Amino acid sequence: MSNAPQFDQIVEPRPTLAGLTDAYAAIGTALDRGDRAAALAEWDGLRRRYDTWSALVHLRFAQDTTDTAAKADRDYADALSPEAADLEVALKRRLLADPDRAGLATLVGEHALRLWETDVTTFDPAIKPDLEEEARISARYTELLASAKLEIGGKTVNLAGLGPYAEDPDRAVRHEAERVRWAFFEANAGALDEIYDQLVKLRHGMAVKLGFSSYTPLGYRRLRRVDYGPEDVARYREQVVQHVVPLVGRLLEARRAENGWDRLRYWDEALVDPAGNPKPAGDHDTLVEAAAAMFDGMDDRLAAFYRLMRQGGFMDLKNRPGKSGGGFCTSFPTEGVPFIFANFNGTHHDIGVFTHEMGHAFQNWESRGLDGIDYLWPTMEAAEINSMGLEFLAYPEIGRLVGDDAADRFRRMHLIGALAFLPYGVCVDHFQHEVYANPDASPADRHALWARLEKLYLPRADYGDLSFLAKGGRWQAKSHIYGSPFYYIDYTLAQCCAMQFWVKSRRDYPAAMEAYVELCSRGGSAPFQDLVRSAGLVSPFADGALQDVVREAAAVLGV
Ligand SMILES: [Zn+2]
Repeated sequence: MSNAPQFDQIVEPRPTLAGLTDAYAAIGTALDRGDRAAALAEWDGLRRRYDTWSALVHLRFAQDTTDTAAKADRDYADALSPEAADLEVALKRRLLADPDRAGLATLVGEHALRLWETDVTTFDPAIKPDLEEEARISARYTELLASAKLEIGGKTVNLAGLGPYAEDPDRAVRHEAERVRWAFFEANAGALDEIYDQLVKLRHGMAVKLGFSSYTPLGYRRLRRVDYGPEDVARYREQVVQHVVPLVGRLLEARRAENGWDRLRYWDEALVDPAGNPKPAGDHDTLVEAAAAMFDGMDDRLAAFYRLMRQGGFMDLKNRPGKSGGGFCTSFPTEGVPFIFANFNGTHHDIGVFTHEMGHAFQNWESRGLDGIDYLWPTMEAAEINSMGLEFLAYPEIGRLVGDDAADRFRRMHLIGALAFLPYGVCVDHFQHEVYANPDASPADRHALWARLEKLYLPRADYGDLSFLAKGGRWQAKSHIYGSPFYYIDYTLAQCCAMQFWVKSRRDYPAAMEAYVELCSRGGSAPFQDLVRSAGLVSPFADGALQDVVREAAAVLGV
């Protein structure tokens, strides 16, 4: 494969505001001439080059946050971004004002028009300073959490570094990990309350400037949700209460009995397997090699794609000093091959993150031929089906990554984790709906609200001596509540769909895999529920969407 794409050969010159302004003016001139097809093609190319450059800049900084040149590039990109958005929205407005909507839909597709119609209502030059302020305040939250220096086991770790301790088989170690974690949040609660209060009021103010009565409709539109609203999401949360909360209660009770504990405490929840949560079969190099055999056993297209990513250097999965935390998949729209980023730490999370990000990457690759950059990625709740779906479809071959003797225990742990996540995820969502409906509530009101909602969604949470949690402080550790309002429900909607792939794969694996690959190839060409139904799945907003998966899971898990 001599012409295989190589990551280190991707270059994209840095755009300037003057250059972008000229390029948009040229597109406007083409529209003035009536040459709409040429204007759209030129614009698509411009957006692809811009996004490739922006993705490279953000990735290079994440790969080495101590590189001052990379940080300067990222700051430059972040400052240019609202200006680019301004130019982009202005062009969308002009295109949408064209009376020949049918002709435009023929060129770009009806779904792109719906997305643009949503986008133009979320931006006005009047809120540009507010957007910059929002980014600045959100960054304070990130920096505050990144500053944590926590002492445990004779070592100093950051919040992510507590992970292995929090699921240690030794109960005293787990308790100590949570004690240390929440002591940090309690010590910073005042600052965290203030940051959130500023964000809520700022977002409410932006919504009012744009003509909305509260932030909620604006938040939905910023996430480009075109086919469902808050009432649908509320119904979904009720389904979780009805079907999943009781199952999770039975699972926790079974674990309590299995371990011989008098009560199952909060710090026991992360230890899913009484023998110790299964760990990866080896280090980074072992996993990367074993994954090739895993994908070979799953699907030829997945296997070929993985070889391409490996050969082209489109993965950075090792933890190292200076590297930014977390895991993500990013893409270079001028190239087609995406990139996955992670920080392996020797726990089962390495396997979860790897299969998850590979799912995003595979979708992005399979749908690379779709016309128009708007279809490169689906909206996020749909994108998470591609990633979470692959986590479940990897089950039959997961022994390659975790060792054959631990494969059953890994699958059980992963499934329990997926189920237990749902009530927590919808609690995070419900909290935000209440917060933005009452922007003038006090920080104390918000803590009381969280404590009240926990009784509905997490009725078995037992915080023992961790009084900060018992008083409703847990939400302050959830970065999405601060930085990505209303995003969190997306993971739970996608989990509902991914678990349907799991049920299907148990009946007929090749058929489930085929439906998955086809869903990936549709990329972002349709709204969430259309994509879900196109894969033969039930929309999470339909009654009964969770019943089958919960019944199947209860049978498999024996509760
Ligand atoms: Zn994801």
